[in-house]
Amino acid sequence: MYRTHHCGAIRLANTAEQVTLSGWVSRTRDKGFMVWIDLRDRYGITQLVLDQERCSADLLEAARNLGRETVIQVTGRVIERDAKNASMPTGEVEVLVAELNVLNAAKLPPFTIEDQTDGGDELRMKYRYLDIRRNPVKQNLIFRHKVSMLVRNYLSDQGFLEVETPYLIKSTPEGARDFVVPSRMNAGQFYALPQSPQTFKQLLMVGGLDKYFQLVKCFRDEDLRADRQPEFTQIDCEMSFITQEDILNTFEGLTAHLLKAIHGIDSKPFPRMSYDEAMERYGNDKPDIRFGMELSRLNALAQHRDFEVFNSAEYVVGIAVPKAASFTRKEIDALIDWVKRPQIGAKGMVYVRYNDDGSLKSSVDKFYSEEDLKAWAEVTGAQPGDLICVLSGELAATRAQMSALRMELASRLNLRDPKVFAPLWVVDFPLLEKDEESGRYHAMHHPFTAPKPADIELLDTDPSAVRANAYDLVLNGNEIGGGSIRIHDRPTQELMFKYLGFSPEEARSQFGFLMDAFEYGAPPHGGIAFGLDRLVAILGGAETIRDFIAFPKNNSGRDVMIDAPATIDQAQLDELHLQLKPLQS
Ligand code: ASP
Repeated sequence: MYRTHHCGAIRLANTAEQVTLSGWVSRTRDKGFMVWIDLRDRYGITQLVLDQERCSADLLEAARNLGRETVIQVTGRVIERDAKNASMPTGEVEVLVAELNVLNAAKLPPFTIEDQTDGGDELRMKYRYLDIRRNPVKQNLIFRHKVSMLVRNYLSDQGFLEVETPYLIKSTPEGARDFVVPSRMNAGQFYALPQSPQTFKQLLMVGGLDKYFQLVKCFRDEDLRADRQPEFTQIDCEMSFITQEDILNTFEGLTAHLLKAIHGIDSKPFPRMSYDEAMERYGNDKPDIRFGMELSRLNALAQHRDFEVFNSAEYVVGIAVPKAASFTRKEIDALIDWVKRPQIGAKGMVYVRYNDDGSLKSSVDKFYSEEDLKAWAEVTGAQPGDLICVLSGELAATRAQMSALRMELASRLNLRDPKVFAPLWVVDFPLLEKDEESGRYHAMHHPFTAPKPADIELLDTDPSAVRANAYDLVLNGNEIGGGSIRIHDRPTQELMFKYLGFSPEEARSQFGFLMDAFEYGAPPHGGIAFGLDRLVAILGGAETIRDFIAFPKNNSGRDVMIDAPATIDQAQLDELHLQLKPLQS
């Protein structure tokens, strides 16, 4: 038997018992005549003690020579500690070692296995198995398990069935590139890894399963932005015979359940906002509503006053930054540099200080009177002490810039409190999105999303105006879930593919199986998918999803521990009927 107890389990009540423990040597303190060892396992740390009086010289010597992270087994008696440590659950006791057995030696780890480690990111990723021994990483994985179990139990209790769908499939468009897998047995043919199980979950509805969910890996070959993973986990769900209202209620229920179970929060009904309203008020379809600083259109007030920059702009927009009138010139200049960075792309920023004494002073005083500025303050809701920031330019770009500035300022002003949770539904998304480069329309959500029946007739005349039965659940400025009511009949699905620029042949060859299924009695259905990694990170009060994934990829999509992706040998390439083009350097 390796152990009678875990290292986190022993208490004063166990005093005088003989116990056997197994674990890792976390730390050794050697006083010569006495040695203490912190023995660690998943459950905690127990202090071991050996001394000259009560242990043999050999045993003491063996203990003294144990390197960090050596795997050992000890047997001994539980005794009450002289110097108790109230900050540890096992801090009142120690184990007086009678037998020590080295189960496996360990090399010196490349970084310290402590809560605050000296290891850099890359090093910890390379030795992720050691990083997992550290409390913060371990706790995140335990937390993820807890959230996953809450989700599974909640959905199962609501009658959802967890059904697995295949990973080797044909492309499902979710707006990214597919990862593909060459087929050895079918020369020249490839599987695609699912960007989501979208078509399969719809087929499960045609199959009559009524309520489906799955905690499922999805794969998207995107240019990696910060904190994106090429493989990630979704809570994927689908329901039959439901309206949008049913879906929103069901998954608001799930989210509220998680907030209650994890943080004890009693949620109020989640606010709902149309896509148009979110864009108008926050410049963003995933607004962080934990703080104000809403966008105000200033065109009417700021244009036609000789200031060419504003006069020529499609959109002039301002926000009131609370208590920021006291920003120094240097701080404001830094902010202007920030919005001018290529990632943000603003040409400049106009600002108005609304001083505590009620006076207003702007960077464009030449063009605007104090009365003008007062009107800006009124529209933006600025109070004395606030700073008004104004951007201008083309509508979509300027909105995006202002939204980024709003988030940046909120971070600088500590308005993004990770302990506050502000969920909301964003609804009535546009069905289609125009790609400015190709002039073609894309499905904003995916091509299986149903248009709002009232808008269908606009498809021919004003495609951008057609709204979809699509919705996102937003939490603290992150889209944590998104879904839609689906098209469930062949003619509408064919029409949709036509509008998306598919030829009938292309539509048939890629999605014929789905449209065929729609002809065999497809129920009205719809669903949603949550990004589990992000949801867990936000609920855990953190922002980086990597911290909640056992073996994540780095920002270049590499697993630096196993060194993937990697080349394969010629024999394997031959077997897969693949020929590599010479790499261009
Ligand atoms: N398949 C969609 C996604 O992965 C979610 C859904 O429509 O249910 O975003």
